[in-house]
Amino acid sequence: MTEEVFTPATEQRVQELSQRLDAVRARITRATADAGRDTEPELIVVTKFFPASDVVALHSLGVMDVGENREQEAGPKAIEAALHGAHPRWHFIGQLQSNKAARVLRFASEVHSVDRAGLVTALAKAAQRRFDTEPATAPTGIYLQVDLRGEASASEDPNAPRGGARPERLAELAGLVAESGRLRLRGLMAVAPLGEDPRPAFERLAGLSERLRRDHPDARELSAGMSGDLEAAVGAGATRLRIGSDVLGRRSSLL
Ligand SMILES: *Cc1c(COP(=O)(O)O)cnc(C)c1O
Repeated sequence: MTEEVFTPATEQRVQELSQRLDAVRARITRATADAGRDTEPELIVVTKFFPASDVVALHSLGVMDVGENREQEAGPKAIEAALHGAHPRWHFIGQLQSNKAARVLRFASEVHSVDRAGLVTALAKAAQRRFDTEPATAPTGIYLQVDLRGEASASEDPNAPRGGARPERLAELAGLVAESGRLRLRGLMAVAPLGEDPRPAFERLAGLSERLRRDHPDARELSAGMSGDLEAAVGAGATRLRIGSDVLGRRSSLL
């Protein structure tokens, strides 16, 4: 195990984050106006591959929601950020093994990448256990991740790394979440398929969301939109944006 000493972000880094954040917020405002919407989606800043000091700096710049995709990185980062006064809401957005569910719930208040029944069951059990020992814990927010690839590409490559449930499985998964005591169905999440125009894909997602809300009227959130397709997602009705590199900079592939 390596114990790294926490070094606060330099003044220069805070400046850089501040400017990039302002630029992203301006894009969101513009996209919201262009879409004729009157409420802006919420920004979740994806801090994967970046240190806890950046989370602390972003929190001081008003970022209240951060996203992470790996449990072994996010858990210690959340503890370190908290030790330095930053208590944002943590959103788990990565592929998750059922046996890691309890570990993720130690820090995450929302899980955006729920795509199969076994994972719902594991999260439900972990959330219940947490509630039994700490009754003040809020229910965990759940987003069902949808695979937006067309039939052909999905069957060609059923294990493609982007994850997500096929649309026809959503009703069953939503029912499972709704039946569990300590999970709250927030809505749907998706990543635009690679090499496709994101707009029609996000429109399909919006259609699935509409259908879901007939049975689960409170599940109205749409978690869609990354640095490269934020505008398309806002246009299709996204209520949560997950933005990483346009705020933090390029992720080093060596980390
Ligand atoms: C990394 C990641 C993001 C952020 O992507 P950027 O292109 O850096 O904005 C969003 N969603 C998921 C699921 C991710 O893994």
